[in-house]
Amino acid sequence: MLEVAGLTTKYGAISALRDATLTVGSGEVIGLIGPNGAGKTTLLNSIAGLLSPAAGSVSFNGADVTGSSPEKLLRAGLALVPEHRRIFTDMTVEENLKIGGVTRSAADRASGLDEMAELFSVLKDKWTTAAGFLSGGEAQQLAIARALMSRPKLLLMDEPSLGLAPILVDVVFNLITTLKEQGRTLLVVEQNATRMLEASDRAYVLRSGEIVATGTGAELSGRDDLFDTFVNG
Ligand code: ATP
Repeated sequence: MLEVAGLTTKYGAISALRDATLTVGSGEVIGLIGPNGAGKTTLLNSIAGLLSPAAGSVSFNGADVTGSSPEKLLRAGLALVPEHRRIFTDMTVEENLKIGGVTRSAADRASGLDEMAELFSVLKDKWTTAAGFLSGGEAQQLAIARALMSRPKLLLMDEPSLGLAPILVDVVFNLITTLKEQGRTLLVVEQNATRMLEASDRAYVLRSGEIVATGTGAELSGRDDLFDTFVNG
């Protein structure tokens, strides 16, 4: 479904991501793990159209989408849950969700709202609450629900467990498992390597802007050499 080949992205003269190659197949949950500053967000944002790569290519469902705008990618079925959530705090939960479904028909948006109410019971009780009043865990769930409203073929998530209390970290990883059971395709950036390796089919390890290892959770979790500098949450 997604093929990234030789992707390099620079901030000025500095290459924050070098020659990254990865694939995500339909129905797979893929983790992207690595320490602070490894280039995980840069890679995700380069795929999602928020950053323009200096070299390499991104192919989505067989089409070359390198450098496409986020709007075009969203319409093609690729949605991003950005780092720090970025929900609209002055708008209600329902309004945030409707914005997430802006690329869909009115009927599709209405059924999407019903689906989100079912999947996120905590949001259902706060439908008319301004999103700025949500707790961190609720806000994260809203950010994920908003992205799901576009009915993406591929959902990218940037550090969904960041800054959450341990019990809410569990909620996020349980949700990833539920989405996997529903057959959805996910590419998830996480610093919590242990939990992400458990939740994913495969993972890529980034360090200093390069992919240094890839494999299943079982293959990677034994690699102490890769994780000596990790905070596993
Ligand atoms: P974190 O977990 O801290 O978000 P990350 O693995 O997502 O880390 P990136 O945010 O992709 O890493 O950053 C990779 C490198 O690029 C870091 O050295 C960072 O300082 C640098 N960087 C990130 N954004 C910018 C920017 N806008 N301008 C210049 N350098 C940047």
